[in-house]
Amino acid sequence: YVKDQQKRTEDISAVYDMKEKLGEGSFSEVRLAQNRRTQKLVAVKCIRKRALKDKEAMLENEIAVLRKIKHDNIVCLEEIYETSSELYLVMTLVTGGELLDRILERGMYTEKDASSVIGQVLDAVRYLHDMGIVHRDLKPENLLYDTVFEDSKIVISDFGLSKMEDQGMLSTACGTPAYIAPELLEQKTYGKEVDCWAVGVIAYILLCGYPPFYDENDMELYRQIVKAEYEFDSPYWDDISESAKDFIGHLLQKDPERRYTCEEALRHPWISGDTALEKNIH
Ligand code: ADP
Ligand code: MG
Repeated sequence: YVKDQQKRTEDISAVYDMKEKLGEGSFSEVRLAQNRRTQKLVAVKCIRKRALKDKEAMLENEIAVLRKIKHDNIVCLEEIYETSSELYLVMTLVTGGELLDRILERGMYTEKDASSVIGQVLDAVRYLHDMGIVHRDLKPENLLYDTVFEDSKIVISDFGLSKMEDQGMLSTACGTPAYIAPELLEQKTYGKEVDCWAVGVIAYILLCGYPPFYDENDMELYRQIVKAEYEFDSPYWDDISESAKDFIGHLLQKDPERRYTCEEALRHPWISGDTALEKNIH
Protein backbone atom coordinates (compact mmCIF):
# COMPACT_ATOMS: atom_id res chain seq x y z
CA TYR A 1 0.00 0.00 0.00
CA VAL A 2 1.20 3.53 -0.62
CA LYS A 3 2.35 4.74 2.78
CA ASP A 4 2.98 8.15 1.32
CA GLN A 5 -0.11 9.51 -0.35
CA GLN A 6 1.94 12.58 -1.23
CA LYS A 7 4.38 12.48 -4.10
CA ARG A 8 7.91 13.03 -2.81
CA THR A 9 9.84 15.84 -4.40
CA GLU A 10 13.29 15.21 -2.94
CA ASP A 11 16.00 13.77 -5.17
CA ILE A 12 15.38 10.05 -5.48
CA SER A 13 19.10 9.33 -5.83
CA ALA A 14 19.60 10.63 -2.28
CA VAL A 15 17.34 7.84 -1.05
CA TYR A 16 17.98 5.12 -3.62
CA ASP A 17 21.15 3.99 -5.35
CA MET A 18 19.94 3.52 -8.94
CA LYS A 19 21.37 0.38 -10.53
CA GLU A 20 20.95 -1.58 -13.77
CA LYS A 21 18.03 -1.53 -16.16
CA LEU A 22 15.50 -4.33 -15.72
CA GLY A 23 13.22 -3.51 -18.59
CA GLU A 24 12.15 -0.83 -21.02
CA GLY A 25 8.91 0.49 -22.50
CA SER A 26 7.97 3.22 -24.93
CA PHE A 27 8.32 6.12 -22.50
CA SER A 28 9.71 4.51 -19.40
CA GLU A 29 12.43 2.25 -18.12
CA VAL A 30 12.43 0.02 -15.07
CA ARG A 31 15.62 -0.03 -12.99
CA LEU A 32 16.86 -1.96 -10.03
CA ALA A 33 17.55 0.33 -7.05
CA GLN A 34 18.71 -0.06 -3.48
CA ASN A 35 17.54 1.95 -0.50
CA ARG A 36 20.75 3.54 0.87
CA ARG A 37 19.58 3.35 4.47
CA THR A 38 17.81 -0.03 4.66
CA GLN A 39 19.70 -1.74 1.77
CA LYS A 40 16.35 -3.00 0.49
CA LEU A 41 16.17 -3.66 -3.27
CA VAL A 42 13.24 -2.28 -5.28
CA ALA A 43 12.21 -1.79 -8.91
CA VAL A 44 11.85 1.82 -9.98
CA LYS A 45 9.85 2.74 -13.05
CA CYS A 46 11.34 5.97 -14.39
CA ILE A 47 9.04 7.92 -16.65
CA ARG A 48 10.25 10.87 -18.70
CA LYS A 49 7.33 13.27 -18.59
CA ARG A 50 8.38 14.97 -21.81
CA ALA A 51 8.07 11.78 -23.79
CA LEU A 52 4.48 11.52 -22.63
CA LYS A 53 3.25 14.81 -24.09
CA ASP A 54 -0.53 14.54 -24.34
CA LYS A 55 -0.52 11.14 -22.67
CA GLU A 56 0.06 12.58 -19.22
CA ALA A 57 -3.51 11.86 -18.24
CA MET A 58 -2.79 8.20 -18.95
CA LEU A 59 0.09 8.31 -16.51
CA GLU A 60 -1.93 9.99 -13.78
CA ASN A 61 -4.38 7.20 -14.37
CA GLU A 62 -1.79 4.48 -13.98
CA ILE A 63 -0.82 5.99 -10.64
CA ALA A 64 -4.39 6.44 -9.44
CA VAL A 65 -5.04 2.80 -10.26
CA LEU A 66 -1.89 1.47 -8.62
CA ARG A 67 -2.52 3.49 -5.46
CA LYS A 68 -5.88 1.88 -4.88
CA ILE A 69 -4.92 -1.73 -5.23
CA LYS A 70 -3.55 -4.27 -2.82
CA HIS A 71 -3.52 -7.88 -3.91
CA ASP A 72 -1.06 -10.74 -3.58
CA ASN A 73 -0.80 -11.17 -7.34
CA ILE A 74 -0.48 -7.51 -8.28
CA VAL A 75 2.76 -5.55 -8.06
CA CYS A 76 2.84 -3.22 -5.03
CA LEU A 77 3.54 0.49 -5.48
CA GLU A 78 5.58 1.58 -2.45
CA GLU A 79 6.43 5.23 -3.14
CA ILE A 80 6.22 7.91 -5.78
CA TYR A 81 8.88 10.56 -6.48
CA GLU A 82 8.35 13.43 -8.86
CA THR A 83 10.61 16.09 -10.35
CA SER A 84 9.76 18.61 -13.04
CA SER A 85 10.95 16.26 -15.77
CA GLU A 86 10.67 12.80 -14.28
CA LEU A 87 8.33 10.58 -12.36
CA TYR A 88 9.59 7.59 -10.38
CA LEU A 89 7.33 4.77 -9.25
CA VAL A 90 9.02 2.69 -6.55
CA MET A 91 7.66 -0.86 -6.75
CA THR A 92 8.34 -3.99 -4.77
CA LEU A 93 11.02 -5.92 -6.66
CA VAL A 94 9.88 -9.14 -8.24
CA THR A 95 12.81 -11.38 -9.05
CA GLY A 96 11.42 -14.45 -10.79
CA GLY A 97 11.45 -13.12 -14.35
CA GLU A 98 8.83 -13.09 -17.06
CA LEU A 99 6.27 -15.87 -17.32
CA LEU A 100 7.15 -17.21 -20.77
CA ASP A 101 10.95 -17.08 -20.25
CA ARG A 102 10.57 -19.17 -17.14
CA ILE A 103 8.28 -21.73 -18.74
CA LEU A 104 10.67 -22.12 -21.69
CA GLU A 105 13.52 -22.83 -19.25
CA ARG A 106 11.63 -25.56 -17.44
CA GLY A 107 12.13 -29.16 -18.47
CA MET A 108 8.77 -30.23 -17.12
CA TYR A 109 5.55 -28.29 -17.60
CA THR A 110 2.03 -29.56 -17.05
CA GLU A 111 -1.60 -28.45 -17.41
CA LYS A 112 -1.63 -28.24 -13.61
CA ASP A 113 1.17 -25.64 -13.74
CA ALA A 114 -0.70 -23.65 -16.39
CA SER A 115 -3.94 -23.94 -14.40
CA SER A 116 -2.20 -22.58 -11.30
CA VAL A 117 -0.84 -19.56 -13.21
CA ILE A 118 -4.20 -18.81 -14.83
CA GLY A 119 -6.00 -19.23 -11.47
CA GLN A 120 -3.74 -16.60 -9.88
CA VAL A 121 -4.21 -14.22 -12.80
CA LEU A 122 -7.98 -14.69 -12.63
CA ASP A 123 -7.99 -14.02 -8.90
CA ALA A 124 -6.11 -10.74 -9.41
CA VAL A 125 -8.26 -9.71 -12.35
CA ARG A 126 -11.44 -10.51 -10.44
CA TYR A 127 -10.15 -8.22 -7.68
CA LEU A 128 -9.53 -5.42 -10.19
CA HIS A 129 -12.95 -5.92 -11.74
CA ASP A 130 -14.60 -5.80 -8.31
CA MET A 131 -12.90 -2.41 -7.85
CA GLY A 132 -14.24 -1.19 -11.16
CA ILE A 133 -10.87 -1.42 -12.90
CA VAL A 134 -10.37 -2.93 -16.34
CA HIS A 135 -6.70 -3.79 -16.94
CA ARG A 136 -6.95 -3.81 -20.77
CA ASP A 137 -3.36 -4.89 -21.39
CA LEU A 138 -3.06 -8.39 -20.00
CA LYS A 139 -0.35 -10.33 -21.81
CA PRO A 140 2.47 -12.68 -20.83
CA GLU A 141 5.12 -9.88 -20.75
CA ASN A 142 3.17 -8.23 -17.96
CA LEU A 143 3.09 -11.40 -15.85
CA LEU A 144 6.18 -11.84 -13.68
CA TYR A 145 7.25 -14.54 -11.24
CA ASP A 146 7.71 -13.13 -7.74
CA THR A 147 10.77 -15.24 -6.84
CA VAL A 148 13.14 -17.67 -8.52
CA PHE A 149 11.70 -20.57 -6.55
CA GLU A 150 9.65 -23.24 -8.26
CA ASP A 151 6.56 -22.52 -6.13
CA SER A 152 6.70 -18.75 -6.77
CA LYS A 153 3.47 -16.84 -7.21
CA ILE A 154 2.69 -14.79 -10.31
CA VAL A 155 2.45 -11.00 -10.16
CA ILE A 156 0.71 -8.72 -12.64
CA SER A 157 2.78 -5.62 -13.50
CA ASP A 158 2.16 -2.68 -15.80
CA PHE A 159 -1.09 -0.79 -15.55
CA GLY A 160 -0.25 1.71 -18.26
CA LEU A 161 -3.42 1.15 -20.18
CA SER A 162 -5.86 0.38 -17.41
CA LYS A 163 -8.69 2.78 -16.87
CA MET A 164 -11.29 3.38 -14.22
CA GLU A 165 -14.52 1.90 -15.47
CA ASP A 166 -16.70 4.44 -13.74
CA GLN A 167 -15.30 7.18 -15.96
CA GLY A 168 -17.62 5.75 -18.57
CA MET A 169 -17.25 2.98 -21.07
CA LEU A 170 -14.65 4.18 -23.51
CA SER A 171 -13.96 2.82 -26.92
CA THR A 172 -10.39 3.83 -27.60
CA ALA A 173 -8.49 1.20 -29.52
CA CYS A 174 -5.63 0.08 -27.35
CA GLY A 175 -3.74 -2.94 -26.16
CA THR A 176 -1.65 -5.43 -28.07
CA PRO A 177 -3.19 -6.77 -31.33
CA ALA A 178 -2.86 -10.48 -30.55
CA TYR A 179 -4.70 -10.09 -27.25
CA ILE A 180 -7.43 -7.62 -28.26
CA ALA A 181 -11.03 -8.79 -27.84
CA PRO A 182 -13.45 -8.68 -30.82
CA GLU A 183 -15.61 -5.90 -29.32
CA LEU A 184 -12.49 -3.70 -28.97
CA LEU A 185 -11.58 -4.19 -32.61
CA GLU A 186 -15.12 -3.50 -33.71
CA GLN A 187 -15.02 -0.26 -31.69
CA LYS A 188 -18.06 -1.26 -29.72
CA THR A 189 -18.41 -0.28 -26.10
CA TYR A 190 -16.56 -2.70 -23.92
CA GLY A 191 -15.90 -3.52 -20.31
CA LYS A 192 -14.33 -6.08 -18.04
CA GLU A 193 -14.98 -8.84 -20.58
CA VAL A 194 -11.92 -7.76 -22.62
CA ASP A 195 -9.66 -8.93 -19.76
CA CYS A 196 -11.35 -12.33 -19.68
CA TRP A 197 -10.73 -12.68 -23.41
CA ALA A 198 -7.03 -11.86 -22.83
CA VAL A 199 -6.83 -14.50 -20.08
CA GLY A 200 -8.22 -16.97 -22.64
CA VAL A 201 -5.47 -16.01 -25.10
CA ILE A 202 -2.81 -16.40 -22.39
CA ALA A 203 -4.19 -19.79 -21.32
CA TYR A 204 -4.10 -20.95 -24.95
CA ILE A 205 -0.45 -19.87 -25.28
CA LEU A 206 0.52 -21.54 -22.00
CA LEU A 207 -0.78 -24.87 -23.29
CA CYS A 208 0.71 -24.95 -26.79
CA GLY A 209 3.39 -22.23 -26.99
CA TYR A 210 1.83 -20.19 -29.78
CA PRO A 211 -1.08 -17.70 -29.94
CA PRO A 212 -4.64 -18.62 -31.02
CA PHE A 213 -4.87 -15.71 -33.44
CA TYR A 214 -1.91 -14.91 -35.61
CA ASP A 215 -1.21 -13.52 -39.04
CA GLU A 216 1.56 -11.32 -40.42
CA ASN A 217 -1.17 -9.28 -42.06
CA ASP A 218 -3.01 -7.19 -39.47
CA MET A 219 -6.27 -7.17 -41.45
CA GLU A 220 -6.29 -10.97 -41.54
CA LEU A 221 -5.43 -11.11 -37.84
CA TYR A 222 -8.33 -8.73 -37.09
CA ARG A 223 -10.67 -10.86 -39.19
CA GLN A 224 -9.74 -13.98 -37.22
CA ILE A 225 -10.26 -12.24 -33.89
CA VAL A 226 -13.56 -10.59 -34.81
CA LYS A 227 -14.92 -14.00 -35.79
CA ALA A 228 -13.25 -15.66 -32.78
CA GLU A 229 -11.80 -18.04 -35.36
CA TYR A 230 -9.17 -20.30 -33.81
CA GLU A 231 -8.43 -24.01 -33.64
CA PHE A 232 -6.96 -26.59 -31.31
CA ASP A 233 -4.57 -27.79 -34.01
CA SER A 234 -3.27 -31.31 -34.26
CA PRO A 235 -0.78 -32.56 -33.18
CA TYR A 236 -0.06 -29.77 -30.63
CA TRP A 237 -3.41 -30.07 -28.87
CA ASP A 238 -3.88 -33.86 -29.19
CA ASP A 239 -2.77 -34.61 -25.62
CA ILE A 240 -4.45 -31.60 -23.98
CA SER A 241 -7.53 -32.39 -21.88
CA GLU A 242 -11.06 -31.68 -23.11
CA SER A 243 -11.53 -29.74 -19.88
CA ALA A 244 -8.73 -27.31 -20.80
CA LYS A 245 -10.27 -26.81 -24.26
CA ASP A 246 -13.71 -26.28 -22.75
CA PHE A 247 -12.26 -23.70 -20.37
CA ILE A 248 -10.55 -21.78 -23.18
CA GLY A 249 -13.68 -22.00 -25.32
CA HIS A 250 -15.69 -20.13 -22.70
CA LEU A 251 -13.12 -17.31 -22.56
CA LEU A 252 -12.46 -17.02 -26.31
CA GLN A 253 -16.18 -16.51 -26.77
CA LYS A 254 -16.97 -13.79 -29.31
CA ASP A 255 -20.09 -12.50 -27.55
CA PRO A 256 -18.91 -10.64 -24.41
CA GLU A 257 -22.23 -11.35 -22.71
CA ARG A 258 -21.79 -15.08 -23.10
CA ARG A 259 -18.07 -15.02 -22.29
CA TYR A 260 -17.06 -16.34 -18.86
CA THR A 261 -16.53 -13.73 -16.15
CA CYS A 262 -13.53 -14.16 -13.81
CA GLU A 263 -15.90 -15.59 -11.25
CA GLU A 264 -17.21 -18.23 -13.66
CA ALA A 265 -13.74 -19.04 -14.94
CA LEU A 266 -12.50 -19.55 -11.38
CA ARG A 267 -15.31 -22.05 -10.80
CA HIS A 268 -14.45 -24.11 -13.89
CA PRO A 269 -13.11 -27.57 -12.95
CA TRP A 270 -9.89 -26.96 -14.91
CA ILE A 271 -9.11 -24.23 -12.31
CA SER A 272 -10.97 -25.25 -9.16
CA GLY A 273 -11.32 -28.99 -9.74
CA ASP A 274 -8.86 -31.69 -10.69
CA THR A 275 -9.27 -31.94 -14.46
CA ALA A 276 -5.93 -30.24 -15.28
CA LEU A 277 -3.57 -33.06 -16.26
CA GLU A 278 -0.23 -33.64 -14.53
CA LYS A 279 1.63 -35.02 -17.51
CA ASN A 280 4.43 -33.09 -19.19
CA ILE A 281 3.27 -31.00 -22.16
CA HIS A 282 6.62 -29.45 -23.11
P1 ADP B 1 6.26 -0.87 -19.62
O1 ADP B 1 5.12 0.09 -19.48
O2 ADP B 1 7.50 -0.18 -20.04
O3 ADP B 1 5.92 -2.09 -20.42
P2 ADP B 1 6.47 -2.63 -17.33
O4 ADP B 1 5.89 -2.26 -16.03
O5 ADP B 1 5.77 -3.69 -18.10
O6 ADP B 1 6.62 -1.30 -18.16
O7 ADP B 1 7.98 -3.05 -17.10
C1 ADP B 1 8.88 -3.39 -18.14
C2 ADP B 1 9.74 -4.54 -17.72
O8 ADP B 1 10.47 -4.22 -16.53
C3 ADP B 1 8.94 -5.80 -17.35
O9 ADP B 1 8.65 -6.58 -18.46
C4 ADP B 1 9.90 -6.48 -16.39
O10 ADP B 1 10.88 -7.22 -17.08
C5 ADP B 1 10.55 -5.32 -15.66
N1 ADP B 1 9.81 -5.03 -14.40
C6 ADP B 1 8.69 -4.27 -14.27
N2 ADP B 1 8.27 -4.20 -12.99
C7 ADP B 1 9.14 -4.93 -12.28
C8 ADP B 1 9.25 -5.25 -10.87
N3 ADP B 1 8.37 -4.80 -9.96
N4 ADP B 1 10.28 -6.03 -10.48
C9 ADP B 1 11.16 -6.50 -11.40
N5 ADP B 1 11.12 -6.24 -12.73
C10 ADP B 1 10.13 -5.46 -13.18
MG1 MG C 1 4.92 -3.92 -19.99
